[in-house]
Amino acid sequence: MPTSQHKNLKQWDRDYIWHPFTQMKDWFRDEPLIIDSANGVYLKDIDGNTYMDGVSSLWVNVHGHRHVHIDAALKKQIDKLSHSTLLGLSNTPSIELAKRLIGIAPKGLKKVFYSDNGSTAVEIAIKMAYQYWQNTGHQKKTNIVHLSNSYHGDTLGSVSVGGIELFHKVYRQLIFKTIPLKNHGWPAVEELEKLLKARGSSIAALVIEPLVQGAAGMLVWPEGALKKMRDLTKKYNVFLIVDEVATGFGRTGKMFACEHEGVTPDFLCMAKGITGGYLPLAATLTTQKVFDGFIFDHKEQKTFFHGHTYTGNPLACAAALANLDVFQKERTLAKLAPKIKFLAKKLKMFYNLPVCADVRQKGFMIGIELKGRLEDRVGAKVCQQVRKYGVILRPLGNVIVLMPPLSISVEELDFLVMATYRAIEENGNEKQ
Ligand code: PMP
Repeated sequence: MPTSQHKNLKQWDRDYIWHPFTQMKDWFRDEPLIIDSANGVYLKDIDGNTYMDGVSSLWVNVHGHRHVHIDAALKKQIDKLSHSTLLGLSNTPSIELAKRLIGIAPKGLKKVFYSDNGSTAVEIAIKMAYQYWQNTGHQKKTNIVHLSNSYHGDTLGSVSVGGIELFHKVYRQLIFKTIPLKNHGWPAVEELEKLLKARGSSIAALVIEPLVQGAAGMLVWPEGALKKMRDLTKKYNVFLIVDEVATGFGRTGKMFACEHEGVTPDFLCMAKGITGGYLPLAATLTTQKVFDGFIFDHKEQKTFFHGHTYTGNPLACAAALANLDVFQKERTLAKLAPKIKFLAKKLKMFYNLPVCADVRQKGFMIGIELKGRLEDRVGAKVCQQVRKYGVILRPLGNVIVLMPPLSISVEELDFLVMATYRAIEENGNEKQ
């Protein structure tokens, strides 16, 4: 690409784009890094520099960029149909994918409702849970319970069940009332039990991020807590909504986090990795019982009145089908296990750095928490520094996140960890 064209792109980015989750005043201080192409676990910018994609392009990429099988599946689908609607019609890839998803999901989930991002997948589960109780004569079951520090997306419904002060407090007047749990870990389970005992008949659902609270800083749950929450919600007739938007599609070492504890939720929300990181697609899976709670004569007006324009988009569904093929063909999950072990060993070295407060890992979800005040933005500085070593990372406050594509090799993982270590050593240790 000629240099003048680069200059134009950098200027036009400044002129026209409002970047998400970005203080644009800060953005204007630096040159924008503009990605132009990719291959495997690497991204290439318009100046020809190559970077390892250390956070899987915001936690979505699974088998690497430009995977031949997914690329081919998309090209084939483009030659047949790019979009048609699921409102009043159906289409081939969305049917095939729904069957495949039910085949790999925890046993007991039977129906697939599509949307196009993680926030909507969660909102749909909340609306379905709420309406189920309304439809079936339990008018008092209206409350939604969630964890503290929870994150389920940025639309107002998912913000309502969010508990991250920095992101959510400004919208307090706009969102619906919920019951947040105050505690973490086992104390949260105890708190839930008390709450359900006292008020279970007025509670519609509990929403959780299973095993790892991602945006909260990769907080890993204690073993057994998920199963206990499932048992409690069952006992008190409250739906369990599990948000596997971040944890799904192999991230924790199994296809879904629920599998670690043999849990079948009433709703399982998936997005991000569903298409291997190619296209926006999400799905909310639920049970026959929930589905049956919406089967009435039309005149009773108990239909689930919800649907997005691109629901079940054939291109996205074709990518998702190809993604699942690759999981099978390349034995992605079997190959992941030794890489997870390698990481667990390797990550211990971060404790040698005085600035390191904690290292958390569940499978391929890693958070390295650094000491220091949030306003010093040590996380952002480390992520800026690591670019010099050819790695793209994005922090969560003071937590450095490592979430590489599952396809990454052990040698590449080693490089990623060492580059991160060096960046923290050179930058993070300054501020204590
Ligand atoms: N739930 C969880 C657990 C997430 O991590 C995210 C996004 N990081 C979302 C929901 C929202 O997904 P989206 O950005 O696709 O709306």
